[in-house]
Amino acid sequence: MSETKLHPRTQAVHHGTRRSQYGEMAEAIFLTQGFVYDSAEEAEGRFQQAGPDEFIYARYGNPTSRMFEDRIAALEGTEDAFATASGMAAVNGAMFAMCKPGDHVVAARALFGSCLYVLELLAKFGVEVSYVDGTDLDQWRAAIGPCTKAVFFESVSNPTLEVVDLKAVADLAHAAGATVVVDNVFATPVFSRAVELGADVVIYSATKHIDGGGRALAGVICGTRHFVREVAEPYMKHTGGAISPFHAWIMLNGLQTMDLRVRAQAASSATIAAALQGHPALSRVIYPGLADHPQHAIAMEQMGSGGTMIAIDLHGGKEAAFAALNRMRIVKISNNLGDAKSIATHPATTTHQRLTDEQKAHLGITPGLIRLSVGLEDAGDLIADLHQALG
Ligand SMILES: *Cc1c(COP(=O)(O)O)cnc(C)c1O
Repeated sequence: MSETKLHPRTQAVHHGTRRSQYGEMAEAIFLTQGFVYDSAEEAEGRFQQAGPDEFIYARYGNPTSRMFEDRIAALEGTEDAFATASGMAAVNGAMFAMCKPGDHVVAARALFGSCLYVLELLAKFGVEVSYVDGTDLDQWRAAIGPCTKAVFFESVSNPTLEVVDLKAVADLAHAAGATVVVDNVFATPVFSRAVELGADVVIYSATKHIDGGGRALAGVICGTRHFVREVAEPYMKHTGGAISPFHAWIMLNGLQTMDLRVRAQAASSATIAAALQGHPALSRVIYPGLADHPQHAIAMEQMGSGGTMIAIDLHGGKEAAFAALNRMRIVKISNNLGDAKSIATHPATTTHQRLTDEQKAHLGITPGLIRLSVGLEDAGDLIADLHQALG
């Protein structure tokens, strides 16, 4: 039976495993930066053309990192993947490796602050960057042109959970010959149909749901073998954004339980979002799994789930949001997401502090907005905690 035909739950446990001569059951951590050659001729040959399981230096690749790359590529349905030191190293690597001065990139405006920074950097080096409202297909259609090299967007935006119609945007991009690059963190690899719907390059911050325990930073660029090995890898290996083998090992272990964790977190999120709807302290409960979400139908088609993130907006603005945050006992105030522990974030004063008031207003990042990353605790305990915090 071909390994690639197995179901994701099976692949998440076994795919890509390489065993040493000792036959270890758990994936080994090859905590080595270098590799020994039997002869000078072998070293020369490997530098000319390294075979698929031949390594030179951990900045280029490492057996533990390769196991993680193979496993996530199989789950995502791409030919290959390159593992990076963080999610941002992956975004930076994919975009800088592919663009040159004069190229044009169209991006959704609602982006993680650091992703926005990378696009500003591209503009500084002569790439023309246009921003659109990710949910408005007319704006994508108007912005994409014959010089468009790539489109870039978060399939579900941070923190207001807007869902981009991936297939529709990919069709527009492909008609212009552009590459579709998707930051798929909020969708998670569990609910991803990104490649099937037209994504060419899929990026994850493995720091989030793949680790699932908030322990280590890592990222990954998934794509065709050509894009990963001929475009992204040369850039990554020479600029130093490779993953640590130890972190690759943490992420390999994370992948084994990711499906169970993320499905449980999404089920709790749906329960919590429904329980919070109509609460008198809230002006909005934003969750793609709720029927009143503006892109509910797209979310269900694209992910089959509302995901593990909820945003709530408090009537009383910043003061009310801070008071609620300070009363939360189980839910922790922090800024990670996808963790086993539930986390509440106040985007306006933390992750999105850098934006101007006008930009925040444009993106719906109101003073009363709290972003919730739902963890693995009992959903009833979380609802009770949120209810007492909202007063
Ligand atoms: C966290 C995050 C990133 C960056 O990932 P790091 O691992 O923190 O570098 C990029 N995009 C999105 C949507 C994220 O949530």
